[in-house]
Amino acid sequence: MKIIYLDHNGSSPPSSLHLQKLFSLLVKNVGNPSSPHHVGRNASVALTTARRAVAQVLNVDVAQLIFTSGATEANNMATTGVLRYFGVSRCHAISSAIEHPSILEPLEFLEKNEGLKLTLISANEFGFVALKELLKNITPETNLISLMAANNEVGSVQSVKLLGDFLHYKRWGHAPLENGEIILELEKHLSPSVTKENLQKLHFHCDAVQVFGKVQTQLWFSQGIDSCSISAHKLGALQGVGALFLRRGRKFQPLVFGGAQEKNRRSGTENLPAIISFGLVCEEISQQNWWTQIAEMNSLRVYFQNEISKLPNIEINSPIQNALPNTINFSVRASKKNGEDLLVELDLKGICASSGSACSSGANLPSKVLLAMGKSSHLAKNAVRLSMSTQTTREDVDFVLGCLQNYIN
Ligand code: PMP
Repeated sequence: MKIIYLDHNGSSPPSSLHLQKLFSLLVKNVGNPSSPHHVGRNASVALTTARRAVAQVLNVDVAQLIFTSGATEANNMATTGVLRYFGVSRCHAISSAIEHPSILEPLEFLEKNEGLKLTLISANEFGFVALKELLKNITPETNLISLMAANNEVGSVQSVKLLGDFLHYKRWGHAPLENGEIILELEKHLSPSVTKENLQKLHFHCDAVQVFGKVQTQLWFSQGIDSCSISAHKLGALQGVGALFLRRGRKFQPLVFGGAQEKNRRSGTENLPAIISFGLVCEEISQQNWWTQIAEMNSLRVYFQNEISKLPNIEINSPIQNALPNTINFSVRASKKNGEDLLVELDLKGICASSGSACSSGANLPSKVLLAMGKSSHLAKNAVRLSMSTQTTREDVDFVLGCLQNYIN
């Protein structure tokens, strides 16, 4: 049976070519990058090479990248780490209700246990967070804004660049290069009590896991973004590594101590095999034809989504525009059919799909993201997410469409 893997937002399995290249590098780089001998030095060179490759995709200085065990840890650093630096009980944080649990849960923990004032902004029916709502909620006490660049369940791509450019303009007074009129319009929603000094202190974090390597950096990255988190295994690298980009001058309290690695910002021997794997994937992303393949995948997604929307008793939860090039989320509306049975049915046919976030699947709870988008509990419980890679073909898509048609009818 042919396996059609459509859970790349959950984890994208490494290709055999990637594993071969990785293996040939690993046999030469077996040491601890902190060791003083030549084996350690080789490991350190491999670490630096990978760091350069990751930094190149973001177009940032290598010193601003901190390798972590994944984006969950990077998100915890950017929420708990930043707020603890400021003193949690004095802080106000703003985030969206559709963030990944690795943002929401640390913030909710700090709200419950350490006196954080937290405001969560909801999203519209296609998963978009209104910037004006977010701006209205900024007060002089706001120390943190955390907004994801794209939602992992429905694929909505947020206006993080616009928000970053807005903050950069308001902090430093530089005239915005792009979207000047929209930025001036947004200004009306900011309270006059918020000063430029308040905004200079405010930290803007962006969970960029799902856009990294899927949306070109210049379309989402901005000088106003102070940190962003990325993860290797969403792009065909090994699991267990990610990174936090932290802009120079921005402070946080480290979560892990004892070893001084990553310039004292994240102690613990680096996960070198996974970091080398991350570097290899980033080298691919930096090649010209990567973005051609992403554009082709996007066309396939548009076709796929349009065809699914023609099926009866289906409600599409993903936007068609301002969307990730690989993600389609829909809910099964009919009362006698449900999303979970559909997932089992697809699995039996070799199709790997998911109900949403990998972290919450298996629990059969309604998706918090879909609930925050105003969907009913029935729709939020019966959602299916299909997430493609550049290797997904039209043939795969047509086969899946046939299976969906059979099930729904
Ligand atoms: N943020 C988002 C948007 C994600 O999709 C994920 C992975 N599900 C994470 C954070 C966590 O990433 P990791 O698996 O590297 O911890």
